[in-house]
Amino acid sequence: MSNLDWLDRDRAAVWHPCTQMKHHDTGALPLAPIARGQGAWLYDFDGRRYLDAISSWWVNLFGHANPRINAAVKDQMDRLEHVLLAGFTHAPVVELSERLAVLTRGELGHCFYASDGSSAVEIALKMSFHYWRNHGQPGKNRFLCLAGGYHGETLGTLGVGDVALYKDAYAPLLRQAATVPSPDARLAEPGETATHVAQRAAAVLEAQLAEHHDSIAAFIVEPLVQGAGGMVMHDPHYPRLARDLCDRYGVHLICDEIMVGFGRTGTFFAHEQAGIRPDFLCLSKGLTGGCLPLSVVMTTDEVFAAFYDDAMTRGFLHSHSYTGNPLACRAALATLDIFAEDEVLARNRRFAKRFTALLAPLAKHPRVRHFRQCGMIWAVDIDTRDPDFRLRFYREALRREVLLRPLGTTVYFMPPYILDDGEAVLLAERAVAALDATLP
Ligand SMILES: *Cc1c(COP(=O)(O)O)cnc(C)c1O
Repeated sequence: MSNLDWLDRDRAAVWHPCTQMKHHDTGALPLAPIARGQGAWLYDFDGRRYLDAISSWWVNLFGHANPRINAAVKDQMDRLEHVLLAGFTHAPVVELSERLAVLTRGELGHCFYASDGSSAVEIALKMSFHYWRNHGQPGKNRFLCLAGGYHGETLGTLGVGDVALYKDAYAPLLRQAATVPSPDARLAEPGETATHVAQRAAAVLEAQLAEHHDSIAAFIVEPLVQGAGGMVMHDPHYPRLARDLCDRYGVHLICDEIMVGFGRTGTFFAHEQAGIRPDFLCLSKGLTGGCLPLSVVMTTDEVFAAFYDDAMTRGFLHSHSYTGNPLACRAALATLDIFAEDEVLARNRRFAKRFTALLAPLAKHPRVRHFRQCGMIWAVDIDTRDPDFRLRFYREALRREVLLRPLGTTVYFMPPYILDDGEAVLLAERAVAALDATLP
């Protein structure tokens, strides 16, 4: 089979995510059939290759077809592929929950599983509301979120999100949360630092909480980097201030670390940099190293205790068919093993320094604004009015064997943690070449 065979069959039968399907027919968005992956590279059926510089939508941490993760999954496959997690348990889910709890220093010792990030956010929202209900405060049934935030595509998560492209069409279906300003470090006035911006944003948060805390169950944030909203970065002071304010006004803090968790921002969890503990921590994407779908919500003894009762309806009755799937849990355990055995965070720190230096020509490019970096995430805003910039840049990068998928006019890099120096050089050089070819 060649690329062309798969393209024809795909077009007749597959409806792709986050895509205007007509763009595949007009060529605006070329469709790339992938035969196999190896390390940071994806290979098509005709022998072309692509460097996966966005970790396949931010999930792949240690390369495609990772032998250590695959071996663990294969071993698990022959023991137990799946069992329902209601009334039953298994070694991988117990071990994973224990190890994740240790990574939060035991502060978030209760793990509730699902299969994708949106479902994890839905669970955190429902749990927070239900906690207050069980505490005799059912009026706390609204949520607060950040401008430009993203928490998924289901109706509940769109309601706490603020990315117009994904949300606006469904506005009549949503119960929209109130938004407070993003502590976006780009908003610093001359002479200001990102900390000043964080303080200003927190002042608005405080005003909202002071007025509405009786009706607010939780405040949800993506700590340090707001991803789908454009790789918007903020000072760790903001989550710290938000934690204090949530405590003061009796509101839960939900940290959505679906993108920023697992070392992406330089620490294992992003909230560590703020020195705080959320009430709910949502994880997915990197959790299995990009191998299998899995998500988890981690929470405190206090939240757990609010549901622990004789009455069935005071319990958290949420479920998904594949909750706690053993194969996915084994992939997650193998991923945690790699973190422990390979000193990944230290290697990433060295890589990040080197890659930032390699991106100097991009940072200095006359059409580039707001070069920014946080851990293993780099982003720039391109000064262009071309409404097709995103698709045109994407095509030019693919032509140069690089998978980069801008968010609007923001070009970002979120590579797997395994690039060697040659791959880093290639990526940095070809990104600039693709930019020059895209801009008129
Ligand atoms: C991707 C993402 C989600 C949604 O996860 P899915 O698995 O795509 O449903 C939620 N929050 C953040 C911050 C994300 O990046």
